[in-house]
Amino acid sequence: YDEELNKLKDLPAQTIDGKIIKLLANLDLIEELEFISQNCAKGIGLVRTEQLFNHLDYFPDEEEQYLTYKDLAEKIYPEIVTIRAFDIGGDKVLPVDLHEPNPFLGWRGIRLLLDNPELFKSQIRAVLRASEHKNIFFMIPMVTALEEVRETKLLIEQCKKELKSEKKNFDKHLPVGLMIEVPSAAAMAKEFAEESDFLSIGTNDLIQYTLAVDRGNEIVSKLYQEFHPSIVRFINHISTEGKKNGKQVSLCGEMAADPFATPLLVGLGLESLSISPSIIPQIKKIIRSISFKEAKELANKCLTLKTEKEINEALHHFYNKKIKDQIKNLY
Ligand code: PEP
Ligand code: MG
Repeated sequence: YDEELNKLKDLPAQTIDGKIIKLLANLDLIEELEFISQNCAKGIGLVRTEQLFNHLDYFPDEEEQYLTYKDLAEKIYPEIVTIRAFDIGGDKVLPVDLHEPNPFLGWRGIRLLLDNPELFKSQIRAVLRASEHKNIFFMIPMVTALEEVRETKLLIEQCKKELKSEKKNFDKHLPVGLMIEVPSAAAMAKEFAEESDFLSIGTNDLIQYTLAVDRGNEIVSKLYQEFHPSIVRFINHISTEGKKNGKQVSLCGEMAADPFATPLLVGLGLESLSISPSIIPQIKKIIRSISFKEAKELANKCLTLKTEKEINEALHHFYNKKIKDQIKNLY
């Protein structure tokens, strides 16, 4: 396996007909950095900062965050690291003990951050200070409305002013992107693309909120369908609108690590996927075995299908016919 990995290492994630897909890594723990370079990720597409500090029994202050982000940015340089603002709430860690009747529909992600501007500013300042070498992207989770984007940008501007007067260095053009993981944001992908620097589709939550299925509830797990037609159409819409606006659209949910989904996602026009680093070689192999032309035909067909079962079958059929035999000995 090591030998095979080595052969793949320096080869691009490129389709037979020459389309390059950027394979980025998701990072939850600092220790994963090692696998990221081993598997040749083209940067980090998602750092879950709420996980990064999960082992602490206190909330990290600006300085502690700064040192962590700076370390990440230095180690991944010249590649990019996409740092996501704390997505606390839902089923994730909280700085305070909250008892909400329905946490997934409650105080989570950007909502919690905007309601705690001092906490949010400590993170924004830490990210800005670590962005000196211009290889950090900053990403906002759980946005549902443009006001949240605008309010966030105002806070970022405020932090920039402060840092400037403190004579601290930072990237003046720090790219600010949005997670598209709530149906309202997916439906308004055009406006969200216009008011941000990049988009990243969070299918884990987009599926949960679009299909009204708790992503962690086993009783309804059969209804948690990544190939539900509404999801495929949402991804197409986000990808199309992002591109029209000249913005990079990435996908960082688990779906990006599903080999059956790869030709569909490539065909829908996504040019960047962010996945757990250990899966990168496998997805790279699949990309190297397909043509963009065929992937696009597959995606167009899936956009006309009306049930999850039909889409699932089409993807399995494509995999068995075009991918399965080819990837066995393919580097
Ligand atoms: C997602 O929702 O798809 C995502 C990548 O974010 P998380 O899994 O951290 O909610
Ligand atoms: Mg999410």
